[in-house]
Amino acid sequence: MNNDLKIKIALYVLFFFLLLAFIVIEMIIYLKKAKKYKEKIMAIKDIDLSKDQFIKDYDIKCDYCGNIFNTSNSTCPNCQGAYSSNKQYLEEIKKSNTEYYYYLEHLQQELKVKLDTYCKVLKDLKKNLFVNHNCFNYSIDIPSKDIVENVQIFCEYCGTKIDLKINDGVSCPNCGSTSKDNMELKAYIKKNEVLELECEKYRELNDIIMIVF
Ligand SMILES: [Zn+2]
Ligand SMILES: [Zn+2]
Repeated sequence: MNNDLKIKIALYVLFFFLLLAFIVIEMIIYLKKAKKYKEKIMAIKDIDLSKDQFIKDYDIKCDYCGNIFNTSNSTCPNCQGAYSSNKQYLEEIKKSNTEYYYYLEHLQQELKVKLDTYCKVLKDLKKNLFVNHNCFNYSIDIPSKDIVENVQIFCEYCGTKIDLKINDGVSCPNCGSTSKDNMELKAYIKKNEVLELECEKYRELNDIIMIVF
């Protein structure tokens, strides 16, 4: 064998080993990242959007007989009077709706932070050569979330039921006050916004899951 050929073979072998080393290093980096992100992703839970924890029974004073009773009763136990337009009752309902609204707003802020994190994770993972870029599709089912369109709200001023489309503010047919600032309606709108973010979160997650698992 002449010297030229020997050098050529040595260069090919060297090249082969360098390539192999590069592949191994890339794979180790990828696996390390995958492990790190897997832990982050496994900690994700569905958010709780239910209003249940904000619905309470209240002690109110009857408009007709002055009796103090709890709203776990459907009417005043003393005179059977209705209380759906009782000022004290409507104020308590508004308070609950306001608490629910701020709870949703808090969830919304949390989701925004999470989404930001997932975007960064996704970007970081896509940098790796061994990530199959064709895998970035939405083949995992995104949990179906019901976006509310038509709602029935209670007028905060007179307790009348109002049917409306969620984005149309209307006037109460009974007392004429506007539903625009109604906390129940605002909470419905906020809930829709949170649901949309939640769906987006799942789309990001699906992308990450396609890569990491
Ligand atoms: Zn009464
Ligand atoms: Zn009204």
